[in-house]
Amino acid sequence: MIKFNLKCSNGHGFESWFGSNADFEKLRDKRLVSCVACGSLEVEKAIMSPQVCLDGPSKPLREKPKVDDVGHNFPAEARRIHAGEAPNRAIIGQAKIEEARALVEEGVPVFPVGWKPKQVN
Ligand SMILES: [Zn+2]
Repeated sequence: MIKFNLKCSNGHGFESWFGSNADFEKLRDKRLVSCVACGSLEVEKAIMSPQVCLDGPSKPLREKPKVDDVGHNFPAEARRIHAGEAPNRAIIGQAKIEEARALVEEGVPVFPVGWKPKQVN
């Protein structure tokens, strides 16, 4: 189970549990995910989660963990952490979808939260 922080088109934030990211997308596409506050079906994942898992079994996080914002260095830094060349910590930053996919294929534990097919530049 994965807990996503979601945000509706009216700016309401809420949390919901899904079996997987694919589950979330399937339910959203079928318009079965609605805002708890206003019922809006325009629901997106809010950008807030750390992008690299820390050591240990995954467990629900009660509070926002401390994360390092590495910005556009994210793909490089995620690889360094994975390779043990940088301190193991949660980082957040921007990566293009292709870069993030490449990381996943290399076995880097990247959390696909908040990916958007748009450039931030
Ligand atoms: Zn709402």
